[in-house]
Amino acid sequence: MADIARIIETHGKSFIVELDEGRRYIATARKKKTDYAVGDRVEVGLINEEQAVIEKVLPRSSLLYRSDEWREKLIAANVTQIVVVLAAVPSFYEELLSRCLVAAEDADIRALILLNKADLPETAAAHEVLAPYHRLGYPLLELSAKQDVAPLWPYLAGQLSVFVGQSGMGKSTLVNALLPEAKVRTNEISLALDSGKHTTTHATLYRLPNGGELIDSPGLQEFGMRHLPADRLAPLFPEFRPYIGQCRFHNCRHDREPNCALIAALARGEILPQRLNLLRKLRQECGV
Ligand code: GDP
Ligand code: ZN
Repeated sequence: MADIARIIETHGKSFIVELDEGRRYIATARKKKTDYAVGDRVEVGLINEEQAVIEKVLPRSSLLYRSDEWREKLIAANVTQIVVVLAAVPSFYEELLSRCLVAAEDADIRALILLNKADLPETAAAHEVLAPYHRLGYPLLELSAKQDVAPLWPYLAGQLSVFVGQSGMGKSTLVNALLPEAKVRTNEISLALDSGKHTTTHATLYRLPNGGELIDSPGLQEFGMRHLPADRLAPLFPEFRPYIGQCRFHNCRHDREPNCALIAALARGEILPQRLNLLRKLRQECGV
């Protein structure tokens, strides 16, 4: 009988998998390594006390992709929440936030907008920029990773969260505050896997003291969406849903077509221009 394990780290071609009872193994995949992601539940064959082989992946509740120059790679599986880490200083790209929200809608999971560095005076202005996204229904939490991460705990309980953010937003400070032990990488298996090789850790899953779990993937700023058919994009903007099917042309690109319901909604101030622009941009990236 095959054992069931979960992938908790990816290191280039190797993985660290953990059995339900807690034992960890270094694993390689029988299939292409790109078919697996952190958070995946997998069937493994145990080779010895330290090594295992991944045989196959079990069905996933969600799947997130990393965007790459020319293709998309799996980044995390079975995630239930995306935490977008933002800060007033340095300035953030609003579009990257919106892209993460769209990715969360596509994966059918929650999104939390986390405005870090609340101790800085510039935060009030950033809050104003983010308020429209909060009005779309996404929770917006303001805190200072340097001072107190306690307000975040209730949002993480019971979730498998993935943290994403542009560099400088304070993602590592935040993750280190949530996981003091992660700062000192005591995981001997990971150290052994990385030593002497030029592999980087792509993603690590950590268990939190309150029953939640988090995935940290260094450098993760946004998710890939090129796998999406262009006609599936509009419903990923929740505020656009009432207008879908209302355009004159069923294959409307919401660009310059006459009697476009979204263009009309924009003119009435019911939707944000930057959101409609992102929809148009994503349609182009997805090939229509
Ligand atoms: P990352 O690139 O997103 O991982 O960002 P870091 O965690 O390395 O943080 C970038 C800079 O922001 C560092 O100088 C941190 O000390 C600082 N920083 C992180 N969190 C806070 C915060 O809550 N308040 C302030 N004032 N600075 C912070
Ligand atoms: Zn239209």
